[in-house]
Amino acid sequence: MRPEPPSSMSEPADLLLSVRDLSVVFDTDEGALTAVDRVSFSIRRGEVVGLVGESGCGKSVTSMSIPRLVPMPPGRIVSGEIEFLGHDLLSLPIPELRELRGAEIGVIFQEPMTALSPLHRVGEQLVETILLHEKVPKREAWERSVRWLEKVGIPDPEERMLAYPFELSGGMRQRVMIAMALILEPSLVIADEPTTALDVTIQAQVLDLMREMRGADTGLLLITHDMGVIWEMCDRVMVMYASRLVEEGSVKDIFSQPLHPYTEALLKSMPSLSTGQARLPSIPGQVPSLSNLPAGCNFADRCPYVMDRCRQEDPRLLSLGQDRRCACFLREPLAVTA
Ligand code: SF4
Repeated sequence: MRPEPPSSMSEPADLLLSVRDLSVVFDTDEGALTAVDRVSFSIRRGEVVGLVGESGCGKSVTSMSIPRLVPMPPGRIVSGEIEFLGHDLLSLPIPELRELRGAEIGVIFQEPMTALSPLHRVGEQLVETILLHEKVPKREAWERSVRWLEKVGIPDPEERMLAYPFELSGGMRQRVMIAMALILEPSLVIADEPTTALDVTIQAQVLDLMREMRGADTGLLLITHDMGVIWEMCDRVMVMYASRLVEEGSVKDIFSQPLHPYTEALLKSMPSLSTGQARLPSIPGQVPSLSNLPAGCNFADRCPYVMDRCRQEDPRLLSLGQDRRCACFLREPLAVTA
C-alpha cells in the first residue's frame, strides 16, 4: 500500500519534488565535512532533470538524500526540507518511507549489484518488489515481471527469470535494474550514473530504454558527470561544484549561453556533442577538498575571471528568471528580485 499524501497539499499540480536548503555532512577523522551545502531545487511531473558535476561534488549525496539512502552514520542531514507528493520525506517514519521507495520513488544505481541480491534469482527479486507493495497473486506478479524483462529488451525473459545476477552481462543486469525501478510505475525515478559502468554501445541503448520506459508523468532525476548525456536526455540541468549548486537552466539555455564560469569550462571540455558519449576531460586545477574549502567562492582557484571580491565573499545562487539561477558575482546585474 502506498501512503496517502496529506490532504493539506498546496503546491502546484505538476510539482513532484521540492528540496529546500538541504545540507548533508559526513563525520570523518578530519571533522564534519559538508558534502551538500544549502541545495534547493524542484522537479515537475514528466520532467527530466540532470544533475551534473565532477566526482565528489555532492551530486550523488544530494540525490540519495531524497529517499534517505545516504548511510547514517557517517552521514547526517543537518538542515533542509524534502517534500515529495505532499510528504515531508525527512520526518516520514521509516515504514512509510519504505512504502514510497519502489512504489513512488524508483532508484537506478550505477552498479546494479548495489541493488540486486547475488543470492536470489532475478525473477524472485522482481516478484518480491511487486508483492512488497501490491496485494496481487504471485502468478500475476511473475507474469508482470516476465513482461517487464521483455520490455527492457532481455531475450528469453522466462529463462532469465531463473538466472542469478552474476550469470548476466553488465548491460543485462542494468536492464534488470531498470525493470525493477520502473515495474511499479513510480512518480519519480532517480538514476545515479546509470550508464557509467557500461561500454559505449550499451550506454546508448540503456539511455534510450530509460527514455522510452518511464511514464509520461514520471519525473526523472539523472545524475551524471557527462554533459553529452545531459544533452541527449534532459529538459533542465543543474550544475554542482564542491557541494553547492552553481547554475541551473533549461538544457537549451545552458548549452547556448552558460553563465557560470564552471559550466562554461565543462562545456568547453566536451570533445563533441554529436556522439553523446563525451567524457569530461579535466579542467585546469583541482576540485578543492571539502575539508579545506577556500574562503569566498569555491571555484575561485580555478576561475579565469576571479576578482578580489571572489576570495572574500560567498556568491549566492540568484534567480535570473524562470528556471535560471547562477551563483557568480559576474551575473549579479542579471538577477531578478522576487
Ligand atoms: Fe569566478 Fe568569482 Fe564567479 Fe566565482 S564568483 S565563478 S571566482 S567570477
